[in-house]
Amino acid sequence: CGIVGYTGHRQAVEVAVEGLGRLEYRGYDSAGIALVGDDGDLIVEKRAGKLANLRSILVSRPSPPATAGIGHTRWATHGAPTDRNAHPHTDCDERIAVIHNGIIENFAALRTELESEGHKLVSETDTEVVAHLLEEFAVGGLAEAMRRVCLRLEGAFTLLAVSMDEPGVVVGARRNSPLVVGRGEGENFLGSDVAAFIAYTREAVELGQDQVVELRPSGITITDFHGRPAGTRDYRVNWDA
Ligand code: GLU
Repeated sequence: CGIVGYTGHRQAVEVAVEGLGRLEYRGYDSAGIALVGDDGDLIVEKRAGKLANLRSILVSRPSPPATAGIGHTRWATHGAPTDRNAHPHTDCDERIAVIHNGIIENFAALRTELESEGHKLVSETDTEVVAHLLEEFAVGGLAEAMRRVCLRLEGAFTLLAVSMDEPGVVVGARRNSPLVVGRGEGENFLGSDVAAFIAYTREAVELGQDQVVELRPSGITITDFHGRPAGTRDYRVNWDA
């Protein structure tokens, strides 16, 4: 439902929780974050219910320093609104974390295929297949894996992913569901809506249909699902936060 991504010099947990708070108006039933720690670990925290439930875990179990991360508020379509079904979802080795807005229409067929190859899926969501497909395609890097995965998906999706193997990188993709980049100085943002990053920057780039973005603190690279450079539209957000 609500999506935030960040890479830069700030603590990503703070940017993610601030952004999710600003997206609360959309309604949701659970919330979660994934961070790639400066020591290289992947940290995932998620809880059913209000953002306050997630905030209280983050207070009782403070996350280590991390300057890249993603955050999600879920509006369940496949699988009950439980802790386990909350996003982010991870691959078998817990090296990759994914959040998703929308519906993957062909998830059941993909799940059967992944399970026959030995993947263990632990949630009832349509989203979890994406984490396992990214794992399958991981050798070429996260952005390339995302492009290859998107070519296998049917339906509507905004996806964000982070990987322990690429600290400082957040990858996003979209089809029939919105995704906006926020440009900063030595930091960059992603949101399902500009509200996700309006507290930090007003310089936005709207992703077109069927595009993938690779976000680093120093810049953004946008391609289509085949890796060809993509045309995008830059604009300035001029409404009051
Ligand atoms: N279909 C996904 C799920 O049920 C994502 C829902 C959403 O857009 O929040 O987990």
